[in-house]
Amino acid sequence: LQSPEPPYLRALNPPQREAVLTTEGPLLVLAGAGTGKTACLTARLAHLIWTRKAWPSEILAVTFTNKAAREMKERVARALGQDVEGMPWLGTFHAIGAKMLRRHAELVGLQSNYTILDTDDQLRLLKQLIQAAEIDEKRWPPRLLAGLIDRWKNGGWMPADVTPGESEQYANGKGQQLYHAYQDRLKDLNACDFGDLLLHMLVILKTHRDVLEHYQQRFKYILVDEYQDTNSAQYLWLRLLAQERKNICVVGDDDQSIYSWRGAEVANILKFEKDFPGAKVVRLEQNYRSTPHILAAASGVIAHNGGRLGKELWTDADEGEKVKVIGVWDGPEEARRVGEEIEAFQSKGGSLDDVAILVRAQFQTREFEDRFIQIGLPYRIIGGFRFYERQEIRDALAYLRVVTQPADDLAFERIVNTPKRGLGDKAMAKLHAYARAENIPLSLAAKRIIDTDELTPQARRSLGDLVANFARWRDTANDLPHAELARIVLDESGYTAMWQADRSAEAAGRLENLTELARAMEEFDTLGSFLEHVSLVMDNDAGEDREHVTIMTIHAAKGLEFDTIFLAGWEEGVFPSQRSLDEGGNKSLEEERRLAYVAITRARRLAHIVHAANRRIYGQWTSSIPSRFIGELPEEHIDSETSMTGGESLWRANWSEQGDPFANVARAGGRGPGWRRAATSGALPKTGKVMEARASAVSFGAKPRTDIALGQRIFHEKFGYGSVQEIEGNKLEIEFEKAGRKRVLDSFVEPA
Ligand code: ATP
Ligand code: MG
Repeated sequence: LQSPEPPYLRALNPPQREAVLTTEGPLLVLAGAGTGKTACLTARLAHLIWTRKAWPSEILAVTFTNKAAREMKERVARALGQDVEGMPWLGTFHAIGAKMLRRHAELVGLQSNYTILDTDDQLRLLKQLIQAAEIDEKRWPPRLLAGLIDRWKNGGWMPADVTPGESEQYANGKGQQLYHAYQDRLKDLNACDFGDLLLHMLVILKTHRDVLEHYQQRFKYILVDEYQDTNSAQYLWLRLLAQERKNICVVGDDDQSIYSWRGAEVANILKFEKDFPGAKVVRLEQNYRSTPHILAAASGVIAHNGGRLGKELWTDADEGEKVKVIGVWDGPEEARRVGEEIEAFQSKGGSLDDVAILVRAQFQTREFEDRFIQIGLPYRIIGGFRFYERQEIRDALAYLRVVTQPADDLAFERIVNTPKRGLGDKAMAKLHAYARAENIPLSLAAKRIIDTDELTPQARRSLGDLVANFARWRDTANDLPHAELARIVLDESGYTAMWQADRSAEAAGRLENLTELARAMEEFDTLGSFLEHVSLVMDNDAGEDREHVTIMTIHAAKGLEFDTIFLAGWEEGVFPSQRSLDEGGNKSLEEERRLAYVAITRARRLAHIVHAANRRIYGQWTSSIPSRFIGELPEEHIDSETSMTGGESLWRANWSEQGDPFANVARAGGRGPGWRRAATSGALPKTGKVMEARASAVSFGAKPRTDIALGQRIFHEKFGYGSVQEIEGNKLEIEFEKAGRKRVLDSFVEPA
């Protein structure tokens, strides 16, 4: 008597079943959108556990977002009809990397409680290094160099791996030097950035055989979703881990590779069969998500790309409605129109949870937000301005980071004068220079500098108070629930009071957010685990039960599906993006087209594509032309409707006659990159100049002074000439000719 088939297998079609049941050996599932790739991975995970081929803790499963990881976990539990005890290695590359690195941090010179920097911290740090290295900051702004370093990290390169030819091109020829300095500084701070989570682990796996073997043994099975968007570092990492057992299953779709700008290599999917000889390839062709019209529309667009692997897609779903192409006058009308459509959908009994608006760029969301707030339509922005990115939340987190990790200079800097404590640029310059010279964290420098005369009495007093506060908070940290600790820190530091005294419109909201933060913390066992969570959360905002429309970028919508979608802003210069047009060539345009394919294939039943004739971009009105991708939609699968009489059909005719009517649009429209730069330049922050100038003068590594002796005549910036009376470590007691007797730090005196 055969035991009944486990439930997770029942719904699968034959190739899907094969993808699930072929557990041993390398396997590539190559298939178009909505064919059940993610569904197969989930069933496979369930199958491995059900058949006892592996414990949950012996499976490494990589998803593209934290949300996808949560969903997969839930589905596996549902498929097995039982709670799955811990799947510690199910998550994004970053989450898994972070977890491994905690265990092996010391192998790369970090402590296990290292901080994960966010972009803001990263930029602040780079800015200091750029100035210290006397690199032209206008030409090489921190953001650009952060992108460069990120690219190197995505490629799996440590500083030493950067070739001279590559280094030469950047940061006044100091590309590699800067990368080196950046990594060194991170180590001093006991911190790493997102790229490091993988890169450090990659280095460890390459250089420590025992660690590699441990994980090769541990992970009996490896599963990877969205494989077409892995970057080189991730690819190398997987290859190392899978080398021993070779039970690796990756699923992907070359037509949905949309992250090359973040270093993703679609070539990884092509290399798979070469790296794992004898790999089995399964193709899925039945789409279970969308109607035939939607599928045909998407296929029609992607067919314009070259060099595809090529896949068949079919569906036996009912024909459904054609894709609706809607032309409107301008942005506000677009939002109004979409709002109306959604209300109509709702009045027919549709749920707002089934509706999504997908945009190409963040800035497009505001128009919808304005409108939806006006008409009271609940919505949620995914991946936009997120809770943990708000100013007050970041400030509060910085306080907590300094409490847990005194070496966290970036956090310390963020809050040292927030709320205002009379610690201006001068005082900070002093503190910085001293910390640099001694190679110690700022908070330690602060502790030492307060019993000297280096700072003004007022600065000394308030820094002294802050130092004492932190000492006290650290003392109590272990005895208090951490949410309580947060409340105390924010109260005693004066931070809460600062917002209470603020009369601006946002202040009340900020105070609510701080309360919410404490609530969020309560869900975590330790402050450390909460802080780690915050660093990793990319798609949070959970906990809102109310039905709502989702607004997000196409990038964020990857892997998701909705009954009804609105694709907004399909105009040249918005989608495809201006940048892709400016770059010229086919490569970036083809990536935009893959994005269009991803966008359309998110819809189950209804897809709307909207384009406006006029658009305000970066504060300037421009008239726009419908996206070329609209022109690529097969006529028989769309219904066009436009408020611009005949405009679209005229445009369609033009398109087919002239081939590419867009070649010159970028410049003519007046929003080429030159214009954009002009609009943003002149706004570079000026603060911190004094501080950085001083910092670069003392530069790295000035150790205890050997050139200063008792009785020697010296010069001090602030107090002038004097003679050394006492030397105590790096503190000097000096009789100044004009200022009298003072205690100063040796880094601030010069032999006279
Ligand atoms: P994408 O490329 O967009 O990530 P995908 O290939 O991962 O898509 P899934 O999200 O796994 O596709 O599946 C798409 C939809 O089809 C889901 O709603 C899923 O539940 C459904 N589905 C998958 N396989 C089957 C099946 N055999 N029978 C019925 N429904 C299925
Ligand atoms: Mg998927």
